[in-house]
Amino acid sequence: MDNFKYLLSDIKTIDKIGVKTSKLLKKKNINSIFDLILRLPIDKIDRTKVIKIENLKINEVQSLIVNVKKYVFPRVRNLPNKVICDDDTGEIDCIFFNSYEGYIKKILPLKKTVTISGKINYYRNRYQITNPKYISDDKNKILNIQSKYNLTEGITDKKYNYIINEIMKNIPNLNEWHSPYILKKLNNVSWKESILNLHNPEKINRQNIFIKRLIYDEIFATFLIKSQIRSKIKKNKKNSKIFIPYTKKEIFNLIKLNLTNDQLKSIDDIQCDLKSKSKMFRLLQGDVGSGKTVVALISALNVIKSGYQVSFMAPTEILAKQHFNLARKLFKNQIKSDILTGKSSYSDRKKILKNLKNNKINIIFGTHSLFQEKVDYKNLGLIIIDEQHKFGVKQRKALSDKGGRNCDVLAMSATPIPRTMIMTIFGDMDTSIIKEKPKNRKSVITYSKSQNKLSEVLKFVKQQISNKSQIFWVCPLIEESKKVDHQSSVNRYNDLKKIFGERIGLLHGLINNEDKDKILNKFLERKIDILVSTTVIEVGIDFPNANTIIIENSNKFGLSQLHQLRGRVGRGEKQSYCILMFKNSLSENARKRIKILKSTNDGFQISEEDMKLRGYGNLLGFKQSGMETFRLADPVQNEDLFILAENEIKKIELQRNNLNKFNQMIKLYDRADVIVDNFNFLD
Ligand code: ADP
Ligand code: MG
Repeated sequence: MDNFKYLLSDIKTIDKIGVKTSKLLKKKNINSIFDLILRLPIDKIDRTKVIKIENLKINEVQSLIVNVKKYVFPRVRNLPNKVICDDDTGEIDCIFFNSYEGYIKKILPLKKTVTISGKINYYRNRYQITNPKYISDDKNKILNIQSKYNLTEGITDKKYNYIINEIMKNIPNLNEWHSPYILKKLNNVSWKESILNLHNPEKINRQNIFIKRLIYDEIFATFLIKSQIRSKIKKNKKNSKIFIPYTKKEIFNLIKLNLTNDQLKSIDDIQCDLKSKSKMFRLLQGDVGSGKTVVALISALNVIKSGYQVSFMAPTEILAKQHFNLARKLFKNQIKSDILTGKSSYSDRKKILKNLKNNKINIIFGTHSLFQEKVDYKNLGLIIIDEQHKFGVKQRKALSDKGGRNCDVLAMSATPIPRTMIMTIFGDMDTSIIKEKPKNRKSVITYSKSQNKLSEVLKFVKQQISNKSQIFWVCPLIEESKKVDHQSSVNRYNDLKKIFGERIGLLHGLINNEDKDKILNKFLERKIDILVSTTVIEVGIDFPNANTIIIENSNKFGLSQLHQLRGRVGRGEKQSYCILMFKNSLSENARKRIKILKSTNDGFQISEEDMKLRGYGNLLGFKQSGMETFRLADPVQNEDLFILAENEIKKIELQRNNLNKFNQMIKLYDRADVIVDNFNFLD
């Protein structure tokens, strides 16, 4: 067999892996030999030292050389067979459940000397080993060091080690894919060298130079794959959009807002993309309220000016409606816009679809279903999609393809993510980032208050209401159960009603979408002052008159989540407040979270801190991002390698290097099968 192909072949290729073992491994997503290779040992078991029975330590794996003294075979059901062994210092029993006498006599022949290794128990004043697996008359077969793997239930250490040993004998020499510069940074360790060393039980040490090489390979391959998707999408040609870009002054005259530098830069990035002959596939990232929608709408206007239509998708109807209203407010009658949602009547819907086909609508707003449904446009030129971090690579690619041949894509996300994760999650897109908040936007002042001081909080709320402000009151999930979750908010709602009267609304996970929209609208129209809720309100909705958010049991939330919640206020003219309530004793981490929130309103900084506190696997939205998790790399621990890989990718993109030398690496690491399936860039 071709040596390289061996790595990608099915685990069943190995003769010790039969149907049963293969099933167990596949359940853990171990399909190829390469998957097995990347499951590194977590520890080692040292069986080299022979211990006398009198010196045995209980509950440890130890090795002994003993004489087989006596069989005790009770021949009664449920009673185990026993073999008494000894050395010159004492006795030990080998206990066998479910083993035939013949087998026992064969591995432990009477009066013979054998070497045994296993975990030592102590039962009724006697040492014993239960179902020993390491027994031989040849001590060299037993007295060695073994790797310990994070085993899949049902596979013994012995078998697993045997399998890995088989694989190690067949690891091919691959041509080096890294440049000499990178290789030097990786201590000149080759891929094969690192694999062999990492599986060598005598050298287990995850901090060493061998693991570094493998971690870098994983990061670099991930980035390269994303970068290739990005350049593939760019190769999709389109007609360039022809328009005269707005000047800063024109934008001001149009929307009466002084855009921030980051907003202007983003508009510029997008304008360049629209004018180019390659399809745009760009992500606009920025905290809630940083002004992404405005940027998207200006871009839409350019597209409309150049004779194309725009489709603007939001995750919920209420958000779609807000975008629609903002567009109408900003652009008055300059453009023809409409909105299509699940609530649109049949006749409206029919009319809208017809108008889209006849180019009588310039921009259509709706939910993400606009993309799923069959909608015919006369001339679609831009898809804008809000809150899109929940989309995976494949869905994004599909979106770009589906829009038609002249269609650009602009995606927006209000979930700030750490720098190392941008390439990881969004490396297949170009990115523009808005960090700067609009001027005269005040930071949300953040307080923390013990639950005991509820009366002070209530006084504060009263004050805010008398100033005609509105309040969010968030009750968290107490347990992972909708019922309890819902109960805590109901209780708070009833308590507050007694104090504040009827102008209070309640939202929780058991309320259906239609009622939910009704309540949110009531809050938007200022018919209620306090909205008690669990975390069910989407982040993007603009409630300009809400200036205070109370978060109960705030220690139950992660940092990024608290920041997102806080982002529901602070968008209007008034000073806004966030009150983090907590029960008496706070953990070290909870204290840190509160401190960070009080010190900054910058979502990007907060996401960095969050990742450091919690580990990257738990980041908000990360699990829904549709991306594969790394098997070895960790953006917190290996930040330097992420940056090294990112810079290397930039070099490669600039130099338009021949990528053939990466073919084998890509084949090994492309778990999404994106490139192999859709692009065939390896051919
Ligand atoms: P995002 O989509 O990033 O959450 P929006 O574009 O919805 O933010 O903007 C939030 C609010 O801030 C809107 O009411 C918008 O009109 C306003 N806004 C946006 N940019 C600016 C700016 N540069 N100066 C002042 N207000 C702005
Ligand atoms: Mg928004």
